[in-house]
Amino acid sequence: MADSELTPEEQAAANRALARRQRKQEEEEEQMIRESGGDENVTVCIRVRPFNRRELELQKQSGETYIRSVIEMPEGMGGKVVCLEKNGENYSVVEEFGYTKSFWSISEDQQPYPFAPVTQEDVFEAVGIPVLKYAFAGFHNCVFAYGQTGSGKTHTMMGDFNANGGSLEGVPGIIPQLCKELFERIERRLEHPEKDIVRTIDVKLSAIEIYNEQVRDLFYRSTPGRTKNTVMKVRKHPTEGAFVDQLAVLNPKSWVECLKLIEAGVSERTVAATLMNSESSRSHSVFQITLTQKESIHIRSDDPNDRFSKPVTNTRVSRINLVDLAGSERVKKSGAQGQNLKEAATINQSLSTLKKVIDALVTNSREPNPKKHIIIPFRESMLTMLLSHSLGGNSKTTMIACVSPHHDNQEETLLTLRYANRAKGIVNHTKINEDDAAKKAL
Ligand code: ADP
Ligand code: MG
Repeated sequence: MADSELTPEEQAAANRALARRQRKQEEEEEQMIRESGGDENVTVCIRVRPFNRRELELQKQSGETYIRSVIEMPEGMGGKVVCLEKNGENYSVVEEFGYTKSFWSISEDQQPYPFAPVTQEDVFEAVGIPVLKYAFAGFHNCVFAYGQTGSGKTHTMMGDFNANGGSLEGVPGIIPQLCKELFERIERRLEHPEKDIVRTIDVKLSAIEIYNEQVRDLFYRSTPGRTKNTVMKVRKHPTEGAFVDQLAVLNPKSWVECLKLIEAGVSERTVAATLMNSESSRSHSVFQITLTQKESIHIRSDDPNDRFSKPVTNTRVSRINLVDLAGSERVKKSGAQGQNLKEAATINQSLSTLKKVIDALVTNSREPNPKKHIIIPFRESMLTMLLSHSLGGNSKTTMIACVSPHHDNQEETLLTLRYANRAKGIVNHTKINEDDAAKKAL
């Protein structure tokens, strides 16, 4: 029977049954996921964007009859990426790579290809859903988008979306889809608890921008006296690592509220961009979601007179860092002067430190003797200091490297692919973050 033929009561019952089934499946998956962890490599995916208007225009002007992507993904999402080079009218293979996933975006009318473009929903399914599964199981997560300016980083992380009216519209990226699914999963958990377990789940949200090696609070408006330009201090916690001191931490109660806050944070970033040309491509942004799950388990006593058994509480805390990096292209020194030069240097500082950190981590992971390990230069930039846990630490981390399909950008594209290839060698040491008092007491 089609859904439209159901009475409202039947429809509600069907929805409840579906939620129960989904919840059951999530519970089973969580059991499996909780046994994972330990040493694991950073997950690396590549996404090629469609040709943009400028590139299509260039091709028209050149009089060439067809446009061809210098990136090929011969296995669809399977992870194989081939980089081509254009010599005159001919294209030849320069290098082949293998990643965890590869996302093709070019439509049939731009270039005929055996694989359909991968949608924002497909990318979320491949990258965002695992993040949520791991977060509920108690693991920390990080997703970061890397690539030259205009390669699709913001499209991938944020996208264009509209959360008004209670539905998620437009072409939402990983962050908005993740928020929606996060709150839907929370609701299912709270509505379908296991026997004898009382659960509370709390979501916290913070957002920063790193610009010129200074950290700014994108939610500055919620703190009296703080402005867009207030420079936040980064301090070091003895076990938790570097953190932004006194950062505004918000407590959204629904996905719509969460997305309104994120939109507000993003607009602080974009407003800044109009003040100085292309500022947004020179800043890094980090949205952090902290998921705290408390489970109280009533342990019943054998004594029939002991009617007030004490609950024991288990707390699981997981963080999700969602990072949109500044453009990775090398700033041409000749063109940069004054303020621009300072920016160029500091952008290079954060991104070049990121490169150094990745290189050092890969070198260490190949060296079995810990005494021979080199020091990782996390402290040389704000970005790497704040992400030190996500790189080589206790976090499930995914890098999405974004590239242009056009031969004009082939050099940058190849550098991005090689860099992403190197990042595959980073080994993280993941564990479930919980204080498992209740489990121990059982
Ligand atoms: P970046 O953040 O890397 O500088 P953007 O995400 O802003 O780049 O992308 C530049 C332009 O290309 C935007 O207009 C964006 O909507 C478009 N774009 C990027 N990736 C895709 C994609 N996979 N599909 C469709 N449009 C895309
Ligand atoms: Mg961007």
